[in-house]
Amino acid sequence: MSDEFIPLAIPNITESEGANLQRCIETTFVSTVGEFVIEFEERVAKLSGTYFEPDSNLGSCGGIAMGAGTMALHMALHGSDIGQGDLVICPSFTFIASANSIRHANARPWLFDVSPESWTIDTKQVAEALKTKTHHDAEGVLRHTESGDRVAAIMPVYTLGTPADMEEIIALSEEYGIPIIADAAAAIGVDYKGKPIGDMADFTCYSFNGNKTITSGGGGMVVGRNRKVMNRIKHISTTARVWPNYDHDEVGYNYRMTNIEAAVGCAQLDRLESFVEAKQKIRRTYDAEFADIKGISAFPYPEDRGSTCWFSGFVVDDPELPQPEEICAKLGEQRIQARIFWKPVHMQVPYADTPMENCPYSEDVYKRIVTLPCSTQLTPEQQARVIHAVKEILSA
Ligand SMILES: *Cc1c(COP(=O)(O)O)cnc(C)c1O
Repeated sequence: MSDEFIPLAIPNITESEGANLQRCIETTFVSTVGEFVIEFEERVAKLSGTYFEPDSNLGSCGGIAMGAGTMALHMALHGSDIGQGDLVICPSFTFIASANSIRHANARPWLFDVSPESWTIDTKQVAEALKTKTHHDAEGVLRHTESGDRVAAIMPVYTLGTPADMEEIIALSEEYGIPIIADAAAAIGVDYKGKPIGDMADFTCYSFNGNKTITSGGGGMVVGRNRKVMNRIKHISTTARVWPNYDHDEVGYNYRMTNIEAAVGCAQLDRLESFVEAKQKIRRTYDAEFADIKGISAFPYPEDRGSTCWFSGFVVDDPELPQPEEICAKLGEQRIQARIFWKPVHMQVPYADTPMENCPYSEDVYKRIVTLPCSTQLTPEQQARVIHAVKEILSA
């Protein structure tokens, strides 16, 4: 068999990205102002179900493009007046950027476990903690009783491109009066039980980093329907400048996406559907091929909702089998790139002291995950090589 290198997850780039980039160069619109930024924001807002007509050329259209997904989350939090003395409910099993964005806003994450059925935040645990560990103070502010901090928002993470248990989260958000800021980093291109994905949270944040469903090189976007807050997010992420002079009415950020990045993003959007279909097919093939192997299981993909199937792989359940690091090393010897997955936030140095609930499932599962090659351009032959290698390693 061929020993060509098979990468884990690489961008799928063709001539159309190049043509758009060429246009940036020809027009000299390479920076944060330009036609592709406007087009990208409009199209992503429309497919998220959050588009509205901007009230001026400084106003938002329901989508605001940023330089990274982390910036999108930070701006959604800061624009919602979340900051010092606040806690944001967040799963511990996530990429560290979710927690970092909360710290960038000067708030702290309050960490929860994830459910084995979806790897998204355990809504039963959240409901229980809100009931027993918070109270409304004399001003009606929801407080975490032990620390006295305000519980300011909930940040579900759409792990693997799978929306969290949003009915439950929306119910908790309404009961306790806290906004939902969703980390949908890899979830563009999926809906939630027939509803557009931007319907499920006050603000939904995507990442367009190189390994996400679509990429803009680097980038992110906040989508949301609250015109007032969205206009404010656009303002503060664009240095809070009050045009036309150099007047700035608060400490702003230089966080906007460039036209060059948006040019790539627009070309990628044309192929979003085919990318998601390719990801889903790759995942189904692995799951079907591995279904009979004893001691491993598939990633959870709940049947009641869709997923972009951002990553594919399997979970090692049997401690007698080779473990993920060994499996990845052996695949590496065959020039197949495989990796272990996120280490929970509460086990990371900067978050050792953040408030948290027990996270037994996160602590257990993260050590057992193997992610396998799942680029959208992975060929059936390449996938067959990966499958063959995995089967060999597990039966040795
Ligand atoms: C990629 C990712 C982010 C951050 O996006 P960047 O564009 O890299 O800043 C945030 N959350 C999750 C779950 C991610 O996977």
